[in-house]
Amino acid sequence: MSCPKPRGGTWVFPENDNERVTARVLDGKAVAKQIFDDVANAVADRVAAGRSRPKLATVLVGDDAASRQYVELKQRNARSVGIESVDHRLSAETTTDELLELVDRLNRDETVSAILIQQPAPRQIDMARVVVALDPVKDVDGFHPFNAGLVALGLPGGVEPCTPAGIVLLLERSGVPIEGADAVIVGRSNLVGKPTGLLLLKRHATVTLCHTRTKDLASHTREADILVGAAGRANLISRDMVKPGAAVVDVSTNWVDGRQVGDFGPGVADVAGWLSPNPGGVGPMTRAMLIKNTYEAELRRRP
Ligand code: NAP
Repeated sequence: MSCPKPRGGTWVFPENDNERVTARVLDGKAVAKQIFDDVANAVADRVAAGRSRPKLATVLVGDDAASRQYVELKQRNARSVGIESVDHRLSAETTTDELLELVDRLNRDETVSAILIQQPAPRQIDMARVVVALDPVKDVDGFHPFNAGLVALGLPGGVEPCTPAGIVLLLERSGVPIEGADAVIVGRSNLVGKPTGLLLLKRHATVTLCHTRTKDLASHTREADILVGAAGRANLISRDMVKPGAAVVDVSTNWVDGRQVGDFGPGVADVAGWLSPNPGGVGPMTRAMLIKNTYEAELRRRP
């Protein structure tokens, strides 16, 4: 069976467009566009009213090609909605202290609303020190312990991390019921798995986080009304591990034969009720939330 492609809100097989499969598309590109449009309108209104234009500072350490592409895409997204952007490039040999100096300068720069430090940084960089040094108000990724703490406690005012916030908004805007749902997340990283669990819990899902020590992964995934794959392992979750009708969010970016794939095997679209394309699902949502967080960072500084 060939791989189905998302089209017109559902999934179709390339060789037979009439053959419909179960899953509706969790269309990250379309929802991200709504967010970009909303932010563009809000920025235009704000500037027309004589208020400050938000500004995003990106920091890239080293010359990793994929990271460079991600940063350039984020810069383009910012400019496209009227957010000013400034890009700082540091050599691959940069020390933690040198990066901390730049963070301090950006923290004190009154014109900068939000700071993004592209990860992964080179090995010699102690990211824990760098993240703690960020001004929490300018921490556009929500990685600072102050923001992570507010999110963990379910308290308002914290910056929600971009990928988890994007996943939850994609589910909400697509009409997937979250309250009371059994949500299973495969992955427990501080970047994706854990905060996604917390945000779903806040919306009253019953949440299970799976990881490499989980005894019987399939016994958990098969019970999931919402199933999030964030393990970074191609084909980890096969079709028979998915509950019929489940909303499946495929976060991971694995590269197989030069092609981006997620964690789910073939045929999942036959079983799932909703499925996020990969690419075109969570990626655009992550960038949209970065832009939304930049705008909101400026609002917090200068309402
Ligand atoms: P990570 O730090 O490597 O975490 C992976 C998690 O998956 C860990 O908790 C790990 O468990 C778990 N895991 C790995 N193999 C497993 C297995 N066989 N069974 C069960 N659990 C397993 O990765 P991450 O930063 O969370 O990112 C996850 C994926 O999402 C990556 O592919 C990344 O590129 C992608 N990503 C995409 C976006 C986007 O915008 N689309 C954004 C961020 C990340 P342990 O804790 O036990 O090791």
